[in-house]
Amino acid sequence: MSLFFQVLASGSRGNAILVCSARTRVLVDAGTTCKDLVGRLGRTPVEAKSLHAVLITHEHTDHVSAAGTLSRKFNLPVYMTRGTLENLPSNIGQCASVTIFATGKSFEIGDLLIHPFATSHDAVEPAGFIIEKDGLRLGICTDLGIATNLVKVRLKGCHGLVLEANHDVDRLLGGPYPWFLKQRIRSAHGHLSNEEACSVLEAVHHDGLRCVIFAHLSETNNHPDLVLESSQKLRRSPRWECVRFELGKQDDIAAAIELA
Ligand SMILES: [Zn+2]
Ligand SMILES: [Zn+2]
Repeated sequence: MSLFFQVLASGSRGNAILVCSARTRVLVDAGTTCKDLVGRLGRTPVEAKSLHAVLITHEHTDHVSAAGTLSRKFNLPVYMTRGTLENLPSNIGQCASVTIFATGKSFEIGDLLIHPFATSHDAVEPAGFIIEKDGLRLGICTDLGIATNLVKVRLKGCHGLVLEANHDVDRLLGGPYPWFLKQRIRSAHGHLSNEEACSVLEAVHHDGLRCVIFAHLSETNNHPDLVLESSQKLRRSPRWECVRFELGKQDDIAAAIELA
């Protein structure tokens, strides 16, 4: 038995992650366009028409823009918190069906067990997810200003992690964004920096951790080299020797990962 996942798109222009068991296939976020996501899925073993559900982390456009179209086209249920539902951008249209979940309350989709947890972000009721199959656990956590104790507790014990590494602090502060936006990104309801992501990893490391995908990298305030540089200290340490590190990409699908 295994759990397969693949980051299909990652960054401020759109996010989507495919997560599958042998029987159940879900998309976490649908933040590009329907056509784009169908194309990206076409490069994986999973066709869009064989998906079972879409899970939404929060209402920001880069996570939901294709949710309505994808849901209507493939008759997919969309799972989200009530706060997300009530604040969806109106232009995504209706979903074929919506299932509300509450953070802290686990539920099942097919043979996947979903544990949603609250995150700290400037959205109304944002969530991260642990997706579990036969004891294998994948943690998905992007768009958070701080990693609260709750987040660290939830991410500890995961075998795979998709974790935000949004910006390099110096690059953000010295960069072109207006001051209010820099403050928003650095706030407790903004986004995690590379250094903060690495400190979360230190806190949640355990011997069963196999793979880390750094995700939601800012194209303006970050660079893959800076993420790798920040994580180099971790990656050099013997306790991280068995952990595979990858980067989520904006314009391309990332490596397919199988947890077994
Ligand atoms: Zn986002
Ligand atoms: Zn967001």
